[in-house]
Amino acid sequence: MRLWRNFPKALCIGLTLVIVNILLGFYPKGILQNLILGQLHEKLPLPLSESDGSMIKKISRLEMDLQLLKESMKLAKMEQEKVDNPLKTAVEAKASKTKQHRPYKKLFPYSWLFKQWGEDLSEAQQKEAEDLFQKFGYNVYLSDRLPLNRSILDTRDSRCLQKTYSSQLPSLGVILIFMDEALSIILRALTSIINRTPARLLKEIILVDDCSSNGELQEDLDKQIKLHNQKHPGLLKIIRHTERRGLAQARHTGWEAATADVVTILDAHIEVNIGWAEPILARIQEDNTVIVSPVFDNIRFDTFKLLKYEVAVDGFNWELWCRYDSLPQAWIELHDATAPIRSPSIMGILAANRLFLGEIGSLDGGMLVYGGENVELSLRVWQCGGKIEVLPCSRVAHLERHHKPYAQDLSPAMKRNALRVAEIWMDEYKYMVYAAWNIPVKNSGINYGDISSRKALREKLKCKTFDWYLKNVYPLLKPIHNMVGYGRMKNSLDGTICLDRGPVPGHTPIMYSCHEFGSQNVYYLLTGEFYVGPLIAQTDADDFCLTDPGIGEQPTLEPCSKAAKNGLHIHWNFRQGGAVINRATKRCLEITKDTSGTYVLVLQICTTQVWEIQHTLRNWESHNGTILSEL
Ligand code: UDP
Ligand code: MN
Repeated sequence: MRLWRNFPKALCIGLTLVIVNILLGFYPKGILQNLILGQLHEKLPLPLSESDGSMIKKISRLEMDLQLLKESMKLAKMEQEKVDNPLKTAVEAKASKTKQHRPYKKLFPYSWLFKQWGEDLSEAQQKEAEDLFQKFGYNVYLSDRLPLNRSILDTRDSRCLQKTYSSQLPSLGVILIFMDEALSIILRALTSIINRTPARLLKEIILVDDCSSNGELQEDLDKQIKLHNQKHPGLLKIIRHTERRGLAQARHTGWEAATADVVTILDAHIEVNIGWAEPILARIQEDNTVIVSPVFDNIRFDTFKLLKYEVAVDGFNWELWCRYDSLPQAWIELHDATAPIRSPSIMGILAANRLFLGEIGSLDGGMLVYGGENVELSLRVWQCGGKIEVLPCSRVAHLERHHKPYAQDLSPAMKRNALRVAEIWMDEYKYMVYAAWNIPVKNSGINYGDISSRKALREKLKCKTFDWYLKNVYPLLKPIHNMVGYGRMKNSLDGTICLDRGPVPGHTPIMYSCHEFGSQNVYYLLTGEFYVGPLIAQTDADDFCLTDPGIGEQPTLEPCSKAAKNGLHIHWNFRQGGAVINRATKRCLEITKDTSGTYVLVLQICTTQVWEIQHTLRNWESHNGTILSEL
């Protein structure tokens, strides 16, 4: 059950797994376990939580952790499929029993494509499938062989089926944006939209090609559009960017071309489910200031099986990566599984009244490549008089790619876009985004583009503050008001090693060669806490506090609020360039060489060792009164 509750998180976790995969190619595993599981942990707090990590304690290797996670998810999924479709599962089980042996050699034993698929493929077929997989990030070989009009499980709550809608709903325009997607994927998306949207409501489908490079998306796609238009005159339009402009601009291009009352902006790798459109149109008809998100299910990138996701709301962390949050109490208390759910954010896919979306500034064309544009829109919607809701009766199956064809590492784009969002919308809280990414607030060296027109838009619309948003819409995101320093923490004895949260799972901080990953993020608060590891700063999860356990010589890391409740020694005196002294035990955090000559952390009677933290914030003055802050 615990695991099941995490299924919806996979949309975001997908990103983490991609990063893990890339890194596996470059780093020794021990380091990776240390570096990345911290990140994964952050994205997937429940099954890997430090507090109840017994499941993974015995497993030391990163891949095994990930494999275990995948296996568990697969098992849970199979359980669910049994419930959803007992007959099919029984047939499948019989078929696999009769399969004697695998006739072909596995050419790509480590490829994610072949973990759960492709047993019966010849070597040539495996090669073809793997090439396509590497290029697109999903199983194009299989997609090309599946029917375009395949049926998928109706994942709606049964109560959705009883809902009736007015016969006078507004018209719908669907915008599909794409860049280097496989043709069969786009055609399946189109087919699902045409087959599962009442024709009287569907006014237009606008395809926006963000300068794809694969040939089949030129003439072959044009031909298919023509065929559709012969059956449904004037329904489809295609617009092609002549240069790559990123997904926010692609969405904006689609919006500009649309004429319908309501626009729905979708990724190209989706299949809309039965009855998806009516709840959207009815809700926006009722209130044209609502931006709506359907509920996503996951089309697996390898098997193309549908994985049902539980209903959740859309949120984000301080790096502005998306995450799923639990359902609001107020909605649960309604006891109506069909009711709209107020949501702090959207994931990217959205529906809106076309004119209202225009009034509030459509999409910010200054958001480049990928990431953060969903948070930008969300803050703008809420702060400028709109609202966001998830509609449980509208379901869209979304294919989560194993990797993106347009970027190996999404972080640089994400980071840059996050700063742009922070600068335009987050007022005095913007430092939280800088801190989460470990970037200095001044002279960050990152060009987030010209924001003057977006600031002017904010003025014109008389938008509310980010403080209002935090307090009224997203209290789960918890700013750290008294943070005075953040970044790498170095000891004067050796500037090449940094304080590090150490292996995960585990509670033992270490000194380790300095690197750029979140496991070496440190945050110092005026109240005396040191948070070590990727920033969490949310009310539903704890950061990890540097602790003097009082016994032994080793510091530990403990969940901060639990540690505070239990009276553990988590408060330290520290000034930039000074000693780190525990306020209760008076012991100093220092480093010493172990028998192998490696520096290790130690708690001891203070000698003369001093520490530096990488970035400083306002309110933190040195002994002689010089302000060290960057703000
Ligand atoms: N996309 C685009 N231009 C880009 C990058 C992406 O048009 O530079 C399209 C992509 O083909 C997809 C949509 O934008 O249809 C969303 O991208 P993706 O699916 O990678 O994002 P995610 O689902 O992870 O939010
Ligand atoms: Mn997508």
